[in-house]
Amino acid sequence: MIFFQNYIDGKFCAPVSGKYLDDVNPATGQTYAQIPDSDAQDLAQAVAAASRVQQAWANTSPNQRAAFLLQIADAISQNLDEFALAECEDNGKPLEVAKSVDIPRAALNFTFFAQAITQFSSESHATPQVINYTLRQPVGIVACISPWNLPLYLFTWKIAPALAAGNCVIAKPSEITPRTAYLLSKIVSEVGLPAGVLNILHGLGSKIGSAMVAHPQIKAISFTGGTATGKAIASIAAPMFKKVSLELGGKNPALVFASCDFDTTVREVARASFSNQGQICLCSSRIYIEKSIYEQFKTAFVAKVKALHVGDPLENGSQLGAVVSEAHLEKILSYIALAKEEGGTLLCGGERVYLGGRCAEGYFVQPTVFENLPNHCRTNQEEIFGPVVTLQPFENEAEALALANDSTYGLAASVWTSDLSQAHRVAEKLQTGIVWVNTWMLRDLRTPFGGAKHSGVGREGGLEALRFFTEAKNVCIRY
Ligand code: NDP
Repeated sequence: MIFFQNYIDGKFCAPVSGKYLDDVNPATGQTYAQIPDSDAQDLAQAVAAASRVQQAWANTSPNQRAAFLLQIADAISQNLDEFALAECEDNGKPLEVAKSVDIPRAALNFTFFAQAITQFSSESHATPQVINYTLRQPVGIVACISPWNLPLYLFTWKIAPALAAGNCVIAKPSEITPRTAYLLSKIVSEVGLPAGVLNILHGLGSKIGSAMVAHPQIKAISFTGGTATGKAIASIAAPMFKKVSLELGGKNPALVFASCDFDTTVREVARASFSNQGQICLCSSRIYIEKSIYEQFKTAFVAKVKALHVGDPLENGSQLGAVVSEAHLEKILSYIALAKEEGGTLLCGGERVYLGGRCAEGYFVQPTVFENLPNHCRTNQEEIFGPVVTLQPFENEAEALALANDSTYGLAASVWTSDLSQAHRVAEKLQTGIVWVNTWMLRDLRTPFGGAKHSGVGREGGLEALRFFTEAKNVCIRY
């Protein structure tokens, strides 16, 4: 049994309460580690450490901070195999995915914000005899709270800009996937980041997470997770006048027009639907297809999905691994049952997968496709966050847009068409924070990232993240 520890004030610490939680490998169903069940006592230590060092860290130059971030990026890259295996065992995702996507991106997050902070500038506004300039100063102590689906990838996406901008950070990974955050704390210690600048606390969202949100000395909260949790966080943070960045759930549409490049679209929409077992906030879950190609697309798409291989995440060739936990497996299966109750026609999948050997007790689900469900039903409105998608036909562009926008969510959409004017028209009218045309999840880290409607508040990425993690101060000089 491995025991993870909190990282506070540059030291590895057991939780003050002495309590631990189980960490389960979802591919085997076995508990393999214990993580601190942290509470307000651990938080108090982290806040004290961060307060002590905050001003000194804020006073370092962007180049000094960038140098630390680059060392962290290098160390992650040098330990790619160890990190990827940890992510695979903790989350259930295929090892190849962790190795080629999650861990390289985590390293890149540090590299990117190391470079970005050296290029960060602020505005100046001049009129005769008056000059205004804007100072962008660190917020102070900030909280970074991340989910389990892309554990290190999303954890570092917050921590890197927060540190780059001169803040001290108290960060909490999901209690379900804490392992790479623990490995990160080891690296941070090895590269000699000053004690107290980054503190990593493990434990339950309902306990240590909410204590972080409510702590009066924590001035900003960067959160990625579910919409209900985001709402709870906003209700605590708003009366305390904290800055919040909320990256929340999605129910993302893919709009497939008759003019699309057919084979590419089938392949890429399948990828958009089932990557990471459908557990990416950006995954497509509502697939709208122009009526004239509906049957043709359905046949090709279902064939593609049936060919996807669900297998042991450690084995090469496994395209879908385990979903993250038993509770999440039950949630996905309950939505499959709901889709049937709502009158959906099951085109493929729909069952739990029982693998043998070491994965006999693991949490695997078939990639699942339904049709014949109305847009307003719960299956088409609620976030399932698993390998379950629906197909619906549309007559024309206006109907496609109406269906796609008929959602409380507004995170991302993809549009598949060869008609350039249509691509622009549709992109402009979609009520989402991100629109991909003839591609999916092609990310440029300089772009603003986030959702509209119930998918979030604020934007991450590029200079937006540095703006969030700084306070703007206007200085006006008359001369
Ligand atoms: P949750 O909202 O359950 O949890 C996210 C994080 O918040 C976890 O670390 C969790 O801890 C913590 N947390 C839970 N309750 C509280 C609380 N009251 N106060 C403070 N922190 C809390 O989401 P999931 O981990 O289940 O992640 C899946 C969700 O994340 C999906 O809805 C998905 O769409 C969304 N997501 C959004 C993204 C985006 O960029 N828009 C990207 C990726 C995912 P613990 O794990 O211990 O409960």
